[in-house]
Amino acid sequence: MKTELRTDITIAQLCEGFHYSELEGKGLYGMNGQLTIQPEYQRNYIYLDTGKDVAVIDSILKGYPIGLIYFNRTLEGQLEVLDGQQRITSIGRFYEGGLSIIDKNGLPQSLDSLDDEPRAKFLNTPLLIYICEGTTDEIKEWFRTINIAGVPLRTQELLNAVYSGPFVTLAKEEFSNSNNANIQKWSHFVSGDVKRQDYLATALKWVSHDGDIANYMKAHRNDSDINELKMFFNEVIGWVSSVFKTIYPEMRGVEWGCLYDKYHKNSGSYNPSAIDKRVAELMTDPQIQTPGRKNIFEYILSGEKETQLLHIRVFDEKTKRIKYIQQTNEAKAEKKSNCPDCAIGHDANKTKIWALKDMDADHVLAWSKGGETTIENCQMLCKHHNRSKGNA
Ligand SMILES: [Zn+2]
Repeated sequence: MKTELRTDITIAQLCEGFHYSELEGKGLYGMNGQLTIQPEYQRNYIYLDTGKDVAVIDSILKGYPIGLIYFNRTLEGQLEVLDGQQRITSIGRFYEGGLSIIDKNGLPQSLDSLDDEPRAKFLNTPLLIYICEGTTDEIKEWFRTINIAGVPLRTQELLNAVYSGPFVTLAKEEFSNSNNANIQKWSHFVSGDVKRQDYLATALKWVSHDGDIANYMKAHRNDSDINELKMFFNEVIGWVSSVFKTIYPEMRGVEWGCLYDKYHKNSGSYNPSAIDKRVAELMTDPQIQTPGRKNIFEYILSGEKETQLLHIRVFDEKTKRIKYIQQTNEAKAEKKSNCPDCAIGHDANKTKIWALKDMDADHVLAWSKGGETTIENCQMLCKHHNRSKGNA
């Protein structure tokens, strides 16, 4: 891995030949065509109209540093922006006249309307640029160590950079494109931000079956189609839509691909109308709250066997009885009350052995704080102390 620090490239040089494409939502080239500002593997321009674009320009005009910029030199000798694309695009848009700042009098100013001095200062500002040349693995490692101010790269953005190629280009066209008409439908089942590659990450995770996205991307890096990725994703979405008739907000972000792998063989035994009714019942059951609600779908797919999925609030009778016997035996041996709260008190109840019917089960770690309804998190308290604990 070779690196070179350049401090001589000015904003004017950088912006030569810059053009921001409204259609593609990205800045294209700079340095007279020598620099690709947004290679296919990079994320889209996300500073647009966020105030961050203006902040970049303000910083430069005030003489503040805008941080390191990283370029990669390709085998053909071209330069690509590895990191700094958001800042460069903001600079380029201001240079082109597509972005204005607000001056201290509250008036919008473009580069052309600035006084000569600040205008020259802006154009002659040198940037701090690291240019690196290396193997895919080296660049991957390099990317990991880069800490981007404000908006850190997400894992999928990093993977897109590392495994760039025809496959990523096509996959992004389908899954990272907010103009794709399917996004609305997909958003019922997939969570996150299309532009930040969350949908692509989901699709890749599902098709990989084992969750190893990097491995899948590596294997398919030079594919000239994304048929498998697309077909599997649509298959999963179609399957979910056929089993569950009603859409719930809790469906967003469920690991549907994983559930498909586990349960789609049972599809013949699912009765969508009966399932629809059962989901509605469980969704309105006050004993089931977040995060249990998200698991209702899996609970039903699994034949309502794995009750722990629902994070239910009430302990069953068997758990209570076992815990009661255990606590009572210990209390008797130590000659104290079998209600732990009575046992540390100072009144006559200190040594009282309560009957099972006079006690209630309590969550040691409160249910509302994520405490599970398992025997490990269960203690029996006398009715008085259980009530005084309130939200158990
Ligand atoms: Zn008590």
